Amino acid sequence: MGWSRIWGHTFQKEYFQRVLSLGKVHHAYLFSGPSGVGKRTLALEIAKTLLCLESWEEACNRCQSCLLFARSAHPDFFLVEPEKNSIGIDAIRDFVQRLSLKRVLSPFRVGIVDEAEKLTEEAANCLLKTVEEPPEGVVLFLVTSQAITLPQTLLSRCQHLVFPSLPERLVAEYLEKEKGIEPSRAYTVALFSLGSIGEALRYAWGKNLEEEVRAFLNNVRGGDVFRAGLWLLEHREDLPRVLSVLAKYFRDALFFCLLKHHYNNGLALSVEDRVCIENLASLGPQVLRKSLDALGVFLRDILANTCWDVAAFHFLLELRGEPS
Ligand SMILES: [Zn+2]
Repeated sequence: MGWSRIWGHTFQKEYFQRVLSLGKVHHAYLFSGPSGVGKRTLALEIAKTLLCLESWEEACNRCQSCLLFARSAHPDFFLVEPEKNSIGIDAIRDFVQRLSLKRVLSPFRVGIVDEAEKLTEEAANCLLKTVEEPPEGVVLFLVTSQAITLPQTLLSRCQHLVFPSLPERLVAEYLEKEKGIEPSRAYTVALFSLGSIGEALRYAWGKNLEEEVRAFLNNVRGGDVFRAGLWLLEHREDLPRVLSVLAKYFRDALFFCLLKHHYNNGLALSVEDRVCIENLASLGPQVLRKSLDALGVFLRDILANTCWDVAAFHFLLELRGEPS
């Protein structure tokens, strides 16, 4: 894989290409952003480039270093990731000790701590010493989806790059071009991904949630609020994502209401999605607008951990178009 095969994150890629071409490499970087957007993939690509014996700007994929890296057998590269959902002191002691040894083959020794939010307090403290006073030629990458949970002392010593969610169009394009998924399915899966290729792949090969969302919307339209409520309860753990997807259907329906045959969201819609959106549009713009507001309130209440069932009840009544 080369830099061009990493989807999105143009700013981050250009930033590192500049850093590498100028030879001004910092000793510790923090990559933060939602999971599955490509943080670890880019960190690995940069690591491979730093270790490459032939090129400074992009790993050659041919030299001894690149070949060893591809086989996960590079003597100057170390990756630590959670075991049983945490990264403990023993794993970090071993990681730090290996990084402190003399380099064997490449101009640098590179370490990646993936899912750094899972470092135990003891492990984070142990790592802090290396981040504060790194051995010469050592470059560290901390990769995390929850930078806020890391100790400030650790954060303040790293150069921080934020990786935002990817645009849905890009995720859909990735699924089509890299995974051969047909355009209409790719678009729907991209909606569920919330801008994460990792999540998109989980949904692409997992259970068909979009069918469930369409069934939920049909139940709402058909007045079966009880069944719709049960479905929400079933997806309680994943509600922020489910509600975000619902909001997209409501927004598309609202556009359809307003634009009628001029409606085109510029993406390939499956026949099922189009029928669902057209049916939803029959609720009328006023109900759709109120439903979108109710969705926003419901999402806010869930994120704030307020009373779940009252928020759900209010939301379902709005969806049915009844005064609550
Ligand atoms: Zn190389």
